[in-house]
Amino acid sequence: MTPGVRPLVAGNWKMNGLRGSEREFEAMLERARADRGADLMICPPATLLMRLSAIAGNGPIALGGQDCHAEVSGAHTGDLSAEMLADAGATAVILGHSERRQDHGETSAQVAAKVEAAWRAGLTAIVCVGETEAERDEGRAVEVVLGQLQGSVPEGATHETLVVAYEPVWAIGTGRTPTAEDVREMHSRQREGLKARFGKAGEAIRILYGGSVKPANAAELMAIANVDGALVGGASLKADDFMGIAAAY
Ligand code: PGA
Repeated sequence: MTPGVRPLVAGNWKMNGLRGSEREFEAMLERARADRGADLMICPPATLLMRLSAIAGNGPIALGGQDCHAEVSGAHTGDLSAEMLADAGATAVILGHSERRQDHGETSAQVAAKVEAAWRAGLTAIVCVGETEAERDEGRAVEVVLGQLQGSVPEGATHETLVVAYEPVWAIGTGRTPTAEDVREMHSRQREGLKARFGKAGEAIRILYGGSVKPANAAELMAIANVDGALVGGASLKADDFMGIAAAY
């Protein structure tokens, strides 16, 4: 945790979820109405945004997209603009997830352009960074992550417009997590980077940990300095798991 910073637990449903998933979301909402110590968000596939937004109302779970195009509109078949996500009820968007960097060859420069688009549409950008296992084995984890952070985040970020998600690629969907010491080191280096660039604002920008977060390890991760919440994949699909993680915050 960072003193004075309210944690965020965000669920990334990735390419999962049909209309029936509304029931799971309703169960999350029901449980989220009780006292909680963290902001909550679900990033469903875009096809579900409007439906979940209608269900969510002004309730305790915000909604986010999983990617956006850098432009407002135009001839980009299959893409969605940040404005469209905002129009559908999103208040944030995940950008530069490692699956997009890998599957779609997204570069940090492209991610930075998408962050600008998110800001233009009034969305908070959740920018993902993380090293591969080979990069960690080569001792380059810090260098890679700080490089991605520098390249993917444009000037002018604040704690309201930016959330960083540190997700070691080798920990995503694998059930493996880094040691607490590795997480502490990576988050503290990113905090230093954010403060060096954004001054006071950098102190309050949330740095989430992502990669095999589960109810069983959430409290341990949350106790680490500069871990300001979690970006949760697989365990965000079920209300029991997601709210079990949220309960740790
Ligand atoms: P996971 O995914 O929780 O299933 O490991 C995390 C993510 O990719 O955001």
